[in-house]
Amino acid sequence: SLSDRLTSTFKNLRGRGRLSEADIDATVREIRRALLDADVAVPVVRQFTASVRERALSAEVSGALNPAQQVVKIVNDELVGILGGETRALQLAKTPPTVIMLAGLQGAGKTTLAGKLGLALKEQGHTPLLVAADLQRPNAVTQLSVVAERAGVPVFAPHPGNQGMETDAVIGDPVGVARQGVAEARAKQHDVVIVDTAGRLGVDQVLMQQAADIRDAVTPDEVLFVIDAMIGQDAVATAQAFLAGVDFTGVVLSKLDGDARGGAALSVATVTGRPIMFASTGEKLTDFEVFHPDRMASRILDMGDVLTLIEQAERAFDAGEAEKMAAKVASGEDFTLSDFLVQMQQMKKLGSMKKMLGMLPGMAQMRDQLENFDEREVDRVQAIIQSMTPAERDNPKIINGSRRARIARGSGQTTSAVNGLLDRFTQAQKMMRQMGKGGGLPGMPGGMP
Ligand code: GDP
Ligand code: MG
Repeated sequence: SLSDRLTSTFKNLRGRGRLSEADIDATVREIRRALLDADVAVPVVRQFTASVRERALSAEVSGALNPAQQVVKIVNDELVGILGGETRALQLAKTPPTVIMLAGLQGAGKTTLAGKLGLALKEQGHTPLLVAADLQRPNAVTQLSVVAERAGVPVFAPHPGNQGMETDAVIGDPVGVARQGVAEARAKQHDVVIVDTAGRLGVDQVLMQQAADIRDAVTPDEVLFVIDAMIGQDAVATAQAFLAGVDFTGVVLSKLDGDARGGAALSVATVTGRPIMFASTGEKLTDFEVFHPDRMASRILDMGDVLTLIEQAERAFDAGEAEKMAAKVASGEDFTLSDFLVQMQQMKKLGSMKKMLGMLPGMAQMRDQLENFDEREVDRVQAIIQSMTPAERDNPKIINGSRRARIARGSGQTTSAVNGLLDRFTQAQKMMRQMGKGGGLPGMPGGMP
C-alpha cells in the first residue's frame, strides 16, 4: 500500500546524518513511484514531489528532528496541503432551508450518503428532509426511502402515499421533484434539504444536463460531488467532467473503507480546487465522518503518533536557539555559561515530555539523558549564573574563591553548588570543543551537562 511504501522509504533514511542532495533525490524518486502506483494523478505527483524536494533541500536546522523525521514531516505537510489543508464545514444558508444537492456517477454512494448526512444533521439538531430526485433507476426512490427511514429522517418522494406523503410531482420529472421538494421543506420548516440525484455509469451529457437543470431549479447552497475512492486514475477525469458540467462546492469520498489506494483522495482536491468535506467509510449509516486533511495524511503515512510527537518536540525545542548553537560549535567559538543556561532550559522543556520522546525513533539517547534530569536544577543553575557578572559568564576561569562565595550568597545557593555547576560547565565546554573539531553536530547541542 501507499502507507507501506512511504514508511519503508523513510526507514532507509534512519540513522543518517545530514542528507545529501543525492539522498533526497533518491527519496523523492521513491515517493514519486509510490504515489503513481497509488493512482495519484501525474500532475499532482509532479507538483507534490517538486515541493517535497525543494523543502527537503532547504530544510531548516532542527535540534529536535533527525533528517528522516524532517523528511517525514515535510511529506506530511505537503500531503495535508494537497488534501485541501483545512477542514471545511457545511455552508448553511442565512435563510433556511439550506439546500444540499448530491451529484456523482451511479454507484458512487450518493443515496447512501443522503441517509448518512441526514442522520448526522439530525443528531446536530437540524430537521433535514431528503428529496428523491433520482427517477432514473426503478428502485432508486425506494432505496432512498429505506435509507431515510433507517436514519429517522423524512423523505419527499414522487410516489403518492410514500412515507404517508401526498404529492402531485410528475413522475419522470426529476427537476420538478427537486423544486417541489425544496418548496415542501420551506412549507414544513425543514432547515436542510438534501437532494439525491441520478447518476450514470459513465460521464454522459444527458446526465450532466439533468444535474445542471436540477441545480438551476433549486439553487443549492452546497453541491457535493460524491466519488468512489476506489475509482483510481479515472477520478481526475470524472471530477473534471462534473466540475465543468455541474460545478460543485465540495467533494465526498466514499468507500474509503475498501482497499482504496488513496490516489483519488490525493488527486481530486488539487485538480478541482474544491475541498474534500466528508468521507464515507462503510455501508452503515454511521460509517461517515467529516474529512480532516491532517488525519488522512497521517493515515496515508501510517505514522499518526510519530507525527504528533514530532510536532510537540519541535514546539518545545527552540529552532532559533538550536541554529545559533550549531553555528557556534561549527565555528569553534567558545561555549559560554549563558549558552549553558539556554541548554539547560531546553532540557527542562523537553523533560516534561520525556515519555513521548522515548517513542520517537532516534530519540532514545536523549530520553536516557532526560531520565536523570532534575527540573529544579534549571532554576538553581539560572540563579547562580544570574549572580555572575558578564565578565564572569564569558570567562569562568576568573571565578576564584571569593567570587564563588559572593555568587553563592547572591543566588541563595551553597558554595559547593556553585563549584558543582562550574565543574559541569567545564565538562560541557570540553565536549562542545570536541564536537567543533569533529565537525559533527549533536542531536541536541551539548547533551547533558
Ligand atoms: P448511488 O448510485 O450514487 O446513489 O450509490 P449508492 O448509495 O446506491 O451506493 C452504491 C453501493 O455502494 C451500495 O451498495 C452501497 O451500499 C455501497 N456504498 C455506499 N457508500 C459506501 C461506503 O462508504 N462503503 C462501502 N463499503 N460501501 C458503500
Ligand atoms: Mg442513488
